[in-house]
Amino acid sequence: MNAPVKPSKLIKGATGDWEIVIGLEVHAQVSSKSKLFSAAATEFGGDPNAHVSLVDAAMPGMLPVINEECVKQAVRTGLGLNAQINLRSTFDRKNYFYPDLPQGYQISQYKSPIVGEGVIQVDVEDGEGVSVGIERLHLEQDAGKLLHDQNPTMSLVDLNRSGVALMEIVSKPDIRSAEQAKAYVSKLRTILRYLGTCDGDMEKGSLRADVNVSVRKPGGPLGTRCEIKNVNSIRFVGQAVDYEARRQIGILEDGGTINQETRLFDAGRGETRSMRSKEEAHDYRYFPDPDLLPLEFDQAFVDALKAELPELPDAKKARFIADFGLSADDAGVLVSERESAEFYEAVLGELANPLRDGKLAANWVINELFGRLNKEGVAIEASPVSAAQLAAIVDLIGEATISGKIAKELFEIVWQQGGDPRAIVDARGMKQVTDSGAIEKVVDDIVNANPDKVAQAQAKPALIGWFVGQVMKSSGGKANPQTVNDLLKRKLGL
Ligand code: ADP
Ligand code: MG
Repeated sequence: MNAPVKPSKLIKGATGDWEIVIGLEVHAQVSSKSKLFSAAATEFGGDPNAHVSLVDAAMPGMLPVINEECVKQAVRTGLGLNAQINLRSTFDRKNYFYPDLPQGYQISQYKSPIVGEGVIQVDVEDGEGVSVGIERLHLEQDAGKLLHDQNPTMSLVDLNRSGVALMEIVSKPDIRSAEQAKAYVSKLRTILRYLGTCDGDMEKGSLRADVNVSVRKPGGPLGTRCEIKNVNSIRFVGQAVDYEARRQIGILEDGGTINQETRLFDAGRGETRSMRSKEEAHDYRYFPDPDLLPLEFDQAFVDALKAELPELPDAKKARFIADFGLSADDAGVLVSERESAEFYEAVLGELANPLRDGKLAANWVINELFGRLNKEGVAIEASPVSAAQLAAIVDLIGEATISGKIAKELFEIVWQQGGDPRAIVDARGMKQVTDSGAIEKVVDDIVNANPDKVAQAQAKPALIGWFVGQVMKSSGGKANPQTVNDLLKRKLGL
């Protein structure tokens, strides 16, 4: 089990401190061309009911056939979650009636899921990491969608999503704050995107979370939980947890009890609202689907998938730190999105001396490039400065052809106009002057013109900075700062 929570995670109530306990059930749409049990397309958008096979429409006598790619995606995901892969799992029918579910049941996995227990490391902004246990991952079908706003007197049904494969990833109740809950979803989404098993697009509904929240006195027994359904943004996960914890603490401190119930998050009001209580909960009458044999594969199938897994964010982060001396924070920023890590690696691939300049390159990617992309609202894929161009700029700094200050000007030119950074430096005479004769002349002129400042600097050596500034200015920022410093010290007798 996890260590006791830090006091900073506790919530102060009228009767003392409270601890929040959270477990998440995340539904992630499997990235696959066709559905879990039919050949219909999973494409987003399209006309209503354009991607519906006879199986998805539940015509009598149709038989589901498992899509091997969806099975592979679930196994890859399980491996990415450091989880137990079950070589034998079964599909069950979860029975309920709803107009968007023509079968009258959802095919899901109940007692024997394809993936068992695992764990993921979650980084939280305050620097504390937490391990969150994974209880299971199972495969199931998505339902269709009811459209209530297309016709004044009728609700319409769109079955395009009916039968699309979902992975339900259930965490253990190991999460202790809204921050941790958000960081968990975010890390899970990053892992899924690295694996390519879910696009993680919460706006399109590819990833959504049911958030289970309870509160207890620190170290006490688990409290009764409420489940907030279908939360579709990371920010809302945090808001729902905070609101719900406060609500439960209020009830308990007034001497009440928590009813186990399903609630909805109202994003407009930032509140959760009761949807149904446990008494009204469905009895799904799960039973094994007689149309589907148990799903069985051998360890060789798992091993082959494992051998092809991409490097995942934790491993990449550790490698960036070990090989290039990056700070944990910088490495964390670079690996937090697959595209960012790929860009940085492309820069490394172009550098003349990656071991020497890998850290410098990380600073440039994070501070200059990401900073600018964020400011302008441009995605990394559309960056006007390519990995090769950025690497050329870093090379020029690393080999002392240009100073960091000139490099910023160069970056600006490349951002605005494109072009080969090296050629721009040549054409515009931006090279750093390391020739000490040329610099010495500038230094002498400034020293001779300012006898009062010389006296001051001799009394207070920190004032050398003023001279450095003057020399840099009159050289157009091109003098090598080290050479300038050395010369000044000598001339001023410091
Ligand atoms: P069910 O089978 O009723 O859905 P589970 O035991 O599978 O319940 O738990 C569902 C989710 O609720 C899991 O993510 C789990 O971590 C979480 N959970 C269970 N008990 C609690 C609790 N007391 N407080 C918060 N979350 C909980
Ligand atoms: Mg459940």
